Amino acid sequence: MTWVIGIDLGGSKIALGLVSPDDQILSRRRIDTDADEGVESVTARISAQVDSLILDLPGGETIAGVGIGAPGPVDHVSGDLHTLVNLPGISNTPFRKILHEKLSLPVKLDHDAKVAALGEFHFGAGRDRDSMIYIVIGTGVGAAIIYEGSLIYGESNSAGESGHMTVDPNGRLCHCGSRGCLETYTSGPALARQYALAQGETITGAEVTRRASAGDATALRVLREAGRALGIAIATIAMTVNIEQFVIGGGVASAGDLLLDPARESLKDYCFESVAARIKVTASSLGEDAALLGAAFMAR
Ligand SMILES: [Zn+2]
Repeated sequence: MTWVIGIDLGGSKIALGLVSPDDQILSRRRIDTDADEGVESVTARISAQVDSLILDLPGGETIAGVGIGAPGPVDHVSGDLHTLVNLPGISNTPFRKILHEKLSLPVKLDHDAKVAALGEFHFGAGRDRDSMIYIVIGTGVGAAIIYEGSLIYGESNSAGESGHMTVDPNGRLCHCGSRGCLETYTSGPALARQYALAQGETITGAEVTRRASAGDATALRVLREAGRALGIAIATIAMTVNIEQFVIGGGVASAGDLLLDPARESLKDYCFESVAARIKVTASSLGEDAALLGAAFMAR
C-alpha cells in the first residue's frame, strides 16, 4: 500500500489531503479556487500545495499518485473538464493532463459526486454495503450510483444527473430548461427561494437549515417540502435499480433528520411497500472528507 494525495476541487475552495496507506488524512491544505485566474494558475497553485504536502511525508516514503474530484460535467477517461457553469475560468480544459505535466505523478480525475460516493462507500456510511446511491445536495444536486462495488457511468457518462430528475411535471422551472427538477426543491438556493417567498426575507440556504434546527416554523416547512421531493426521487431510483442504501451528503444534508425524515416518509407513497421497507436513507458520515478520501482511493 502507498501514500497518495486526494484533492477536492470546489467552486470556491480547493482542499488537499495527504492520505496514509491505512486511509488516514495525515496532513491537509486549503486554498481558494480563484478559477477566474485560469487553468495554468489553478494547476500551478495545486502543484505548489502538493509539493508542500510531500514535505510532510515520513522519511523515505513517496507519493504514488493524485486523485481529484471536480465539479461536473467531466470526462473521467480523458480527465478533461467540460463546461462548468460556475467556473468558466477552467471550463473546457484538459485539466488532468496539465496537472499531470506539472506534478510528474499519475493523476486521476472524476466528477466530485462520484468521488465523494467512493469515499462514503469505502470508508463512511456505505462501508458495509455492496451497492449504494449517493446524493449530494448543495448549491446543485448530483448523484452517483455504485453497483456491486463499481461506479456506474452510463452509456455516455451522464448517469447520476438525478438533480434534474422531474419530481413534479407541473413544478418550478429549472435553469436546465426542464420543470420540477429535484434540484428546484432541495438545493441550498431552492431552500432560500422558498423561504423568501413565504417569509419575505432573503437568507441563505444554510441559514434556513440553521433556523429550522432552532424551531422556525417556516424553515421547518421549507425543509419538509424539500424532504418530500427527495423521497419521490429516492423511490423512483429504488424502483428502477433496486439499490437499497441511500447516503445523502452536501451542505443541505447537515439538516439531518429535518430533511431525511420527510424523505423516509414520502418515499413510501411512491414505490412498492416491499421496496420501501428495505430502503435505508442515511446522512453522510464523512462530511467534507468524503471527497478527499474518495479521491485518494481513486488515486490508488
Ligand atoms: Zn433541472
